[in-house]
Amino acid sequence: MTNKTKKPRPCLVYANQNGEIYDYPALEMAGRRGFDFERIDPQDLIPLPEGSELFVLPDTIPVAWDPGQKDFVHFDPDPYQTDGPAYAVAAFMAPAYTQCLLAAFEKRDTSSPPLPLFAYTAVGWWKDRFWVAGFRSDLDRRQDLRGFNPEKVKRNTLKTLKAHRKNRLIQHLGKCSLTYGCPAAKNLFLGRFEAPLPSSPSCNARCLGCLSLQEKGGPPATQDRIDFVPSAGEISEVALMHLARAPKGVVSFGQGCEGEPLMNPGLLAESIHKTRNTCKTGTINLNTNASRPKGLSQVIDAGLDSIRISINSVRKEYYQPYYRPKGYVYEDVLRSWQLAKEAGLHVSLNLFVTPGLTDSKKEVERLAELIGRFGLDLIQLRNHNIDPDWYLRRIGFKDEASCLGIKGMIGYLKDRFPALNFGYFNPPVKG
Ligand code: SF4
Repeated sequence: MTNKTKKPRPCLVYANQNGEIYDYPALEMAGRRGFDFERIDPQDLIPLPEGSELFVLPDTIPVAWDPGQKDFVHFDPDPYQTDGPAYAVAAFMAPAYTQCLLAAFEKRDTSSPPLPLFAYTAVGWWKDRFWVAGFRSDLDRRQDLRGFNPEKVKRNTLKTLKAHRKNRLIQHLGKCSLTYGCPAAKNLFLGRFEAPLPSSPSCNARCLGCLSLQEKGGPPATQDRIDFVPSAGEISEVALMHLARAPKGVVSFGQGCEGEPLMNPGLLAESIHKTRNTCKTGTINLNTNASRPKGLSQVIDAGLDSIRISINSVRKEYYQPYYRPKGYVYEDVLRSWQLAKEAGLHVSLNLFVTPGLTDSKKEVERLAELIGRFGLDLIQLRNHNIDPDWYLRRIGFKDEASCLGIKGMIGYLKDRFPALNFGYFNPPVKG
């Protein structure tokens, strides 16, 4: 067999009206970048990672590449069930994997409600397995499915809950671990890697893709937002428990189950003081929308080690309609970025990856300009958990002809900034 024939060329997968998934060998799997369909570059394919899930997308029509017609075709109806509809199938990849292309589909009705808040990556079938258009973007195994022993997680969580009955934050995180299966909460109870410190029920943004709070007519929120403000004592108790036992441990303010932690900078600062009075090791990190530079200064002065700024686009025209800020502007985010770098913190961007927008030439050039101006240590490549049609239309995205591809974007930025790292998780920056 030559090298050429070894390259994967998966076929279309689709679902019938009963939700059963089939492959269709006569058509090639396709992908989507923005609103445009694309054939898949075999270099962008990997076997579906363990811990990923497949979703059937209701009210959609799959799109595939027809090698005979040399064109993209809508696959409908289901040829195996006369007159039955065919639906698109997408992969929601496990943590630490980043998508190169979205699943190829079109909505049957553009006014149908948005899909739930997950990422929808292109998936196909070749040689008895599913393949996805993505790559492993972080070798860290902290959230790999096989690293979690369910019995051990349950045992450790229950033991800790019993020992800290009065700490409301620990009780809250116990529920996250046992009921919602949150990997960060599970790692807290396993005493390793990065642990969550949620603290804020409120926020000053109204992100279209907010996981913890949605308006009527939006997609359903996937996480319950914390409904109380823990005290600095409760927060530092969690931080100390984790940093004392986790090798190169990280504790992070700013989680999917809360609002914006910088809404209460005094609380964060006090929690850091209390923690650092006892423990000098480990990393204290802040995941944030970076909307409040003044509050951030206060937290930095208290001893913050690293910051991760979440952003969907570095262009204001796409940032504003996504974040819908209340009482701050895009420029405040840039001020926070600059401030954190000037203060010597490790600074990451939590870049919500949407092929077509994230890797468009204009977007990457703007990103490079900002990195050149402020400096940056790491880009965390997180797939954007959102219905791509709904998202791109709501922010008024115009398809941009010139795209580098997600891997091309990494290559471009690496060439310009050799010290810049790419990954998926918050790294330890202190021993
Ligand atoms: S900044 Fe975070 S918490 Fe606030 S609306 Fe956006 S996603 Fe939700």
